[in-house]
Amino acid sequence: MTQPTASHFINGEYVEDTNGAPIDVIYPATGAIIARVYSATSDIIEHAVNSALNAQKAWARLSGTERGRVLQRAAIIMRERNRELSVLETYDTGKPMSETLYVDATSAADALEYFGGLAGSITGEHIPLSEGNWAYTRREALGLCVGIGAWNYPTQIACWKGAPALACGNAMIFKPSETTPLCALKVAEILVEAGLPAGLYNVIQGLGDVGAALVSDPRVDKVSLTGSVPTGRKVYAAAASQMKHVTMELGGKSPLVIFDDADLENSVSGAILANFYSTGQVCSNGTRVFVQKGILDAFLKRLTERLDLAVIGDPQDESTNFGPMVSERQLDIVLSYIEKGKAEGARLVTGGNRIAGVGYYVQPTVFADVTDDMSIAREEVFGPLMSVLSFENEDEVIGRANATEFGLAAGVFTADLSRAHRMVDALDAGTCFINSYNDAPVEVPFGGVKMSGVGRENSKAAILHYSQLKSVFVRMGDMESPF
Ligand code: NAD
Repeated sequence: MTQPTASHFINGEYVEDTNGAPIDVIYPATGAIIARVYSATSDIIEHAVNSALNAQKAWARLSGTERGRVLQRAAIIMRERNRELSVLETYDTGKPMSETLYVDATSAADALEYFGGLAGSITGEHIPLSEGNWAYTRREALGLCVGIGAWNYPTQIACWKGAPALACGNAMIFKPSETTPLCALKVAEILVEAGLPAGLYNVIQGLGDVGAALVSDPRVDKVSLTGSVPTGRKVYAAAASQMKHVTMELGGKSPLVIFDDADLENSVSGAILANFYSTGQVCSNGTRVFVQKGILDAFLKRLTERLDLAVIGDPQDESTNFGPMVSERQLDIVLSYIEKGKAEGARLVTGGNRIAGVGYYVQPTVFADVTDDMSIAREEVFGPLMSVLSFENEDEVIGRANATEFGLAAGVFTADLSRAHRMVDALDAGTCFINSYNDAPVEVPFGGVKMSGVGRENSKAAILHYSQLKSVFVRMGDMESPF
């Protein structure tokens, strides 16, 4: 595997500065230190900001087609190197190769390809006015965009932010999560190899303090964060004080509602995907599984049988489909919620234990008899912990599903299509799934309502969040004035 060769990637090349605080990169499957990067010093931040500012204007002056061509070339390179990038993603996150080979670099390449294709279509409009006058709008780049990532999908997040930003003519400085610092460096390397001029996509490392320094820098025009609600509050507030544009992709506690008439096997598959894929470390997970009383026993029986089939083990082994938690810290958070579930009276159906041996493994865990007031039903766990709650009827479940500060996603399993659409109409969520869960194709907007965020990633909607309109009034005749 070709590993990144230094901590930062600035102005088209790897840059090191060992004066920054060291950050060890730990392989979650063994706990071994596999790399070390250094947090960005103020010199590194200055270098990244200056490089981005120097490069951005010329990039914005290229045609959209020219910019898009670079992104599409990068998508091709990513697909050619999918295995190598997947191995790195697995070392960075601990997610099994059976996932990373199919989801991470591939979805990142999808974003580069999609926004590369859209770049040539980013236009304004012509507005006819009275007396032969007219106006037109120009959709212009924002300037310097900062992306700040979470640790669960480091390659994908780097491209979900980078691709639309670059397509619109911006420069980007991306700060990966300190837990998974490696993958974004490869994205930067590939973009430059594809022909991206130096300085347009820079990656610098660090903890929250480096993120905060970027957000408060007056030369930065936009901040896009993927992270938790508490971090989102701080970043949004800091950005607001300088009137910066923001996109906030934050946490969730999404409901998944399964009605009596739903196909049992599909519902169980949906619930498994919604809780245990990526070892439960997915922001849009449907962790409150509301099951109608008539199907509850059959659902729990089949779910338990299916969970016995999980292959838990070495993430590099392609037959493994359930890996470790990303870090010891995240493992401890999950274990503490398992204890809270037990203490608050939920019934442990399966799992519930750390798996002995090296690495940060915990069993896929299901609690039944969960009530709305329990911690495991209210707070985001971000791990493989499913809460099953029972319900009687549609009105009741809508009220309970919406009784949360979050609003990222929601799912409905039912054979009654009218009911499915009624539910979607009533649910407070940025993304809804009917007889499915957690699909996130690049063509479809993704983002949350309520505390789960503002703005949208992916789709044509993302273009609106990485560009701004300039209106131009054109007078064709003489000017009139009062004196
Ligand atoms: P986190 O909030 O702890 O950190 C996110 C990023 O913000 C990291 O890069 C961190 O260094 C940085 N950061 C921390 N404090 C900062 C500050 N004051 N200023 C600027 N940057 C700062 O989140 P995490 O633990 O890395 O990720 C898990 C969270 O992310 C979960 O809540 C999850 O739901 C959410 N998430 C959301 C989405 C989405 O698209 N909605 C996707 C993935 C993860």
